[in-house]
Amino acid sequence: MQQEKLMASRVYTFDLGDDFKPLDETVDEKDFYSGKYLSKRYISKEVLEKAFQGMKLMRVEHVFAKITPPEFQAPQYSNYVVFGIIVTKSETKNTSDNRSKFLKIQLSNFKQQVTVTILGTAFDKYWKLRVGDVVAILNPSVYVYQTEKGKGFTLSLKNSEGFILEIGRSKHFGKCKSIKKDGSVCDTPVDTSKTEYCDYHVEMHVNKTASKRLELSGSFRMFSPTEDGTKQAMYMNKKGSVSGGGGGQLVTDDFAPKYDRKAEMGRLYFSNPDASRAFFDKDYSNPNIMQERKIRKEKTDRIAKERKLREKLINLTNSTVLKNNEYVESQELKETKQKITNVAFGAKIMNKIGFDPTRRMFEKPNNDEGTIKSIALINELKKESLKKEMNLKASVEETLEKKRKWATNEKNLKLYRQGDSITKKSKPKLKPKPKMVELSSSDDDDSE
Ligand SMILES: [Zn+2]
Repeated sequence: MQQEKLMASRVYTFDLGDDFKPLDETVDEKDFYSGKYLSKRYISKEVLEKAFQGMKLMRVEHVFAKITPPEFQAPQYSNYVVFGIIVTKSETKNTSDNRSKFLKIQLSNFKQQVTVTILGTAFDKYWKLRVGDVVAILNPSVYVYQTEKGKGFTLSLKNSEGFILEIGRSKHFGKCKSIKKDGSVCDTPVDTSKTEYCDYHVEMHVNKTASKRLELSGSFRMFSPTEDGTKQAMYMNKKGSVSGGGGGQLVTDDFAPKYDRKAEMGRLYFSNPDASRAFFDKDYSNPNIMQERKIRKEKTDRIAKERKLREKLINLTNSTVLKNNEYVESQELKETKQKITNVAFGAKIMNKIGFDPTRRMFEKPNNDEGTIKSIALINELKKESLKKEMNLKASVEETLEKKRKWATNEKNLKLYRQGDSITKKSKPKLKPKPKMVELSSSDDDDSE
């Protein structure tokens, strides 16, 4: 019913006007209908506009968007026009029943190709079509075919039910310059304003480079199917159609690296051959993992080493700051030094003094005179001890001078002790025993 309604208003020819004459005009302009640039125009824009009035205009991409699986139903329009560039033209052949000749052309938008079979009276009329021309085809039929690999469709034009209009010459039509494995030129149509190579060969080159890189890193490519270790690739048309240009068929990817078939077998159930090997062979160790472990260990070692070095540096920095640019010293030496500096008098000095004078400082004095005396003495001794520490290398004169001083000191001490024993009657005599007194730590003082 609907089909009948559509067919009722169907036309079988373009109305170009009574006085139509084809042009041969050199141009450099974009064709409104095909969206492609022309170098020559055969029909003026005005004539075209009139001819296409009330018709559904479709470029190649629209054809694939409209005629879709599984039905591949013809566009439901009374009149529709398909625009494209003729990119291939087959040899003339005889139909199987030998009653007619036919040829096939491919209409392209530089990305997709749709095959148009021209036969019957249409062949007689249009067999002279030229590759590279932009054409408009009126109401082509949709021919659905079924092969082992699936369903597809071609357009066809037979007898007088269609019409082809040659609009002009494509400016940017060219062929891919890649040489195929068999030595022939690729021949895939390309838009020379954008590229000299077809998408397939551009992608092939990218894949080749990418797979090389992946091989180096020991990984496998995505789950692409393989056959006897040979990679397969699928090239599909928009909308998943399998028509034209060998789209949708698995073809051998000659550029892909070949893999060991046995290893590939495991990929049916495992993410990669290593995983399957590891599953079946408990002694198997993935070389990639071993390598990773090695790298990880090296990294850990490196970090530990660095940490040690940093600790050393921190110690060095601290000691330098705290010790006011003194030489770097060990912790042991540092502690010993600390102890010594906390003691007012060195052991050697106290040996000579015969007792620990600082002790008196912390004792409650019974006698003011004695206290003053002892403080004065302590100060004197302290000065002396400081002087001694500073002059590590004493001259002979200095040594003699010191000996004299010590002698005086001892004499003074004797006198002082005598006085002391008088003022403190009950106090027992202190034994001349050297004693280390820590000025800073108070807990030791209590136990004394
Ligand atoms: Zn190519």
